[in-house]
Amino acid sequence: MGVTTDYMCDICMLHPEDHQHLFYSCDYALACSRLLQKALRMNLSGSGFVLWFSRTRRSKFQRRYIGACYVGLFYYIWRVRNEAQIDHYIRAPAKVVQLVLTEVHSRFTRRNCSKLKQRDMEWLNSIH
Ligand SMILES: [Zn+2]
Repeated sequence: MGVTTDYMCDICMLHPEDHQHLFYSCDYALACSRLLQKALRMNLSGSGFVLWFSRTRRSKFQRRYIGACYVGLFYYIWRVRNEAQIDHYIRAPAKVVQLVLTEVHSRFTRRNCSKLKQRDMEWLNSIH
């Protein structure tokens, strides 16, 4: 019994699609994740995101912001998967990361940023 194309990843068309592949091991997701990490000045040094996140000394604000970016990235990867399936169109990873950063920045800065610590304000300005 072979694998039918109905179950193949709609983005890379190379591997069976499941959530593990789509969000964590598809080359597309990995490319998006690398770009997001670079934009957020994250240096994973070979460790996975969960380990990095549990050990980072980033402020509570930055951890919340980075977490929101990853939630946004998962959402956009899901959208790209659906667009690939329905419209046969795949956005460039850089465009997806730009959309995530714009959306998260907009949501976070709608609140009053005047209470942010200098360190967090500088970081926020450095990523946009
Ligand atoms: Zn894939």
